[in-house]
Amino acid sequence: MVQIPDICKIYHFKSGFMPPFQLDIYFFIADGLMIDAGSAHILRKAEKILQNEPIDAVAITHIHEDHTGMAAWLQRARNVPIYIHRNSIEETSRDSNIPLYRRLVWGNRKGFTALPIPACLHTDQYTFDVIEAPGHHKDHVVLHEKDHGWLFTGDLFVSSRQRVAFKDESIYDTIHTLNTMLSLDFDTIFCSHSGVQRKGKEKLKRKLEYFLSIQEQVRILKQKGHTIEEIDKILFPKTNLWTLVSCGEWSTQNIVKTVDGKGK
Ligand SMILES: [Zn+2]
Repeated sequence: MVQIPDICKIYHFKSGFMPPFQLDIYFFIADGLMIDAGSAHILRKAEKILQNEPIDAVAITHIHEDHTGMAAWLQRARNVPIYIHRNSIEETSRDSNIPLYRRLVWGNRKGFTALPIPACLHTDQYTFDVIEAPGHHKDHVVLHEKDHGWLFTGDLFVSSRQRVAFKDESIYDTIHTLNTMLSLDFDTIFCSHSGVQRKGKEKLKRKLEYFLSIQEQVRILKQKGHTIEEIDKILFPKTNLWTLVSCGEWSTQNIVKTVDGKGK
């Protein structure tokens, strides 16, 4: 059990109407800094909490709708600054228009006015270094609280054995980012989909090793002349449910395609 001070609140909701198309969403409020803003679908359940919690600012790890879904409401109802990577500011000003399966699970994001996330965010108790962490999304950041050994990882972790990748995800960049993270000092990770994890550094290391082993297998199979489609079938023989539902937007093939940074 991870001991987290009362001043750092952890909230967990299910987004989506029914299993298996329902996913876990966590957001955190650490001494007034809210980290990630959940999905639009959890707002009805989270609204009361968000009305009453002390919130001074919101820091968003990346633009996906399950991290920005309540931002417009927070801006309107709580009038707090919302920070995101500078490259995502223009896009966050518009309502999102996502495919049906994502609308059902998370819901569309309403546009909001964001500010560029600074290199460092302070609360009375904590200092968060904001670190670029591309891979899952090119403009993804993580927040590192050195003194407590905490890393708020957005969607960098999720699980040690990632089964599918998003169409614009780069596993090659994730490998680089995981290497960078392992040079930092932390033990606990705060993941937006799997919650608070002790031995977080070990878990990120396992994820890195998993991707490096896929990278090596892809290299060998490419050398033998196999295509991306063939390698995908060899390494991931079972079709993932999310691949079918998302029409390939989320797939194992996206892992194979992007793991060596070559794209073919
Ligand atoms: Zn994401």
